[in-house]
Amino acid sequence: MTTTNGSAEHLPIALRTEALEQLLTERGLIDPKVIDGLITTYETNVGPLNGAKVVARAWTDPEYRHRLLEDGTAAIKELGFGGMQGEHIVVVENTATSHNVVVCTLCSCYPWPVLGLPPSWYKDPAYRSRIVKEPRTVLSEMGLDLDDDVQIIVHDSSSEVRWLVLPERPAGTEHLTEEELVPLVTRDAMVGVAKVETP
Ligand code: FE
Repeated sequence: MTTTNGSAEHLPIALRTEALEQLLTERGLIDPKVIDGLITTYETNVGPLNGAKVVARAWTDPEYRHRLLEDGTAAIKELGFGGMQGEHIVVVENTATSHNVVVCTLCSCYPWPVLGLPPSWYKDPAYRSRIVKEPRTVLSEMGLDLDDDVQIIVHDSSSEVRWLVLPERPAGTEHLTEEELVPLVTRDAMVGVAKVETP
C-alpha cells in the first residue's frame, strides 16, 4: 500500500471516523443527530438487551448455563447473537465468593453482539489502569462494595477474547420467569461493575 505523509491512513480510526462524519455532515449527506441516535440505541438498548436474554436463559435453564460456561460463543449463537467483535466470547460466572470484572487495558475491546457499544467509563484510561491495580477500590467508587472475603478476578479483553460476566441471580426472584428476569439484568452487571438487584 502506498500512502503519502499526512494522509488519513496514518490517523487512528477514531480520528478518521470523526473527520469523515464531519465531512459528510458538512455536505449534508448525514444528520449527526441520526448517527447519535443509532449509537445510543446500540449503547443502551439493542446490545445489553441481548446479553440480558443470555443471562436470563442461563438463570432458568441449567443445561444452557452449562453450555454457556463451556463455550460462550456457541451458546450465545443459539439465541441468535454473534458476529463482529463477538467471534470468541468467554463467559465467567459470579458467585457468592468470587466476582469477575472485565476491562480492556489496551483500548476498549468489548463484546458488541451481547453488550452493544462500550460506555465512556470503560474507555477511560483511569478505569483501564486502576481496575487492574485496585479493583476493590474502583468497584466501591462505582457503587459496588464487595466483602473482603470475596475474591475479585479481573479479565483483560483482547482482540482474541471478549468476556461476558454471568451475574448472580438475585435472591427473591425465584418466582420470576425468564421473560420477567430479562429487564433486571443491566449492562454494568454483565461487565462486572455492579450486581443485579432484587426488584
Ligand atoms: Fe481493546
